[in-house]
Amino acid sequence: MKCPKCNHENADGAKFCSNCATQLCQVCPSCNATNIPVEAKFCPVCGNKLNLIAKEEELVNECERLSKEEKLLTLALEEYAYEYKRFKNIWKVGIILSIPCFFIFSILIWFAYTNYFRPQYELKLLKKYKEKYKLQ
Ligand SMILES: [Zn+2]
Ligand SMILES: [Zn+2]
Repeated sequence: MKCPKCNHENADGAKFCSNCATQLCQVCPSCNATNIPVEAKFCPVCGNKLNLIAKEEELVNECERLSKEEKLLTLALEEYAYEYKRFKNIWKVGIILSIPCFFIFSILIWFAYTNYFRPQYELKLLKKYKEKYKLQ
């Protein structure tokens, strides 16, 4: 039996190459039939799906599952980055808006004080002193 990888001639019925350890034949996990070629998908004795193929399918499924998870993770990360950016932008907009708001508020306070509260206070004082010194 020739090794498909290194062409080493092995004894008939050998399961692995004695030169490079490549698997030369499969053993059916169901009926324990030996000498099944490595490339066989099903057991020629009982028709059972063979280990290598089953393992390959398992690996393919695992790869698909992982790539799906990876895609989901990428999407989640993108969404998080978007949300974070939006949150940061809201803060920026808030700070930028609060500066003119603060100035407008200050101007309004100053306006109210000079045009309403201070004249009223001065009038009150004037009235008080007029009464005190009996001025007209
Ligand atoms: Zn070999
Ligand atoms: Zn079998």
